[in-house]
Amino acid sequence: MRVMTLISKKIEAVQGDITTLEIDAIVNAANTSLLGGGGVDGAIHRAAGPELLRECRTLGGCPTGEAKITKAYKLPSRYVVHTAGPVWRGGKKEEDTLLKNCYLNSLSLCQQNKIKTIAFPGISTGVYRFPKERAAQIAVTTVSGFLKNNTFPKKVIFVCFSDQDLLIYQKTRNYSGNHG
Ligand code: ADP
Repeated sequence: MRVMTLISKKIEAVQGDITTLEIDAIVNAANTSLLGGGGVDGAIHRAAGPELLRECRTLGGCPTGEAKITKAYKLPSRYVVHTAGPVWRGGKKEEDTLLKNCYLNSLSLCQQNKIKTIAFPGISTGVYRFPKERAAQIAVTTVSGFLKNNTFPKKVIFVCFSDQDLLIYQKTRNYSGNHG
């Protein structure tokens, strides 16, 4: 059974593989080339099939903090939102703002495309080494704020690859004190 934690009425955290979710959109923690990579990016491209890369090639890349949308091909979701997270360089290179922008720009694509449900991985928390607690705090705070002021999306899911990552989101819920 999938472990799920409710962070607020519209936000939940689950442990699992984001490529298996039957949902309107999943977010890819891509790199700025949008031409594929390792980690969640590799898993998404493998599951979507080669047509995803073909569409990504037409997009001309994605600057750090921005987001672009494609179809999802063989994935069970309808769309993939590709965002390029910042590489952690110690915290003084605008990493927090850039990570926040990844969430905001991905969510703005939901508002523009009337996407009801979207799932995020822990952007930048893999090979880009962004500290996981700090990233989760930014993710929860940014998503909560956006949901208060926009009609889409209706539901946001944080997908944690490991049980330990899910624990981080459970703790984040406690000290963010968000019940909206
Ligand atoms: P980045 O380069 O942005 O750090 P990574 O793909 O290396 O991206 O890691 C981002 C996060 O995605 C990490 O927390 C990693 O554990 C997680 N991850 C990797 N594969 C999957 C997957 N299939 N589903 C959900 N999360 C995943």
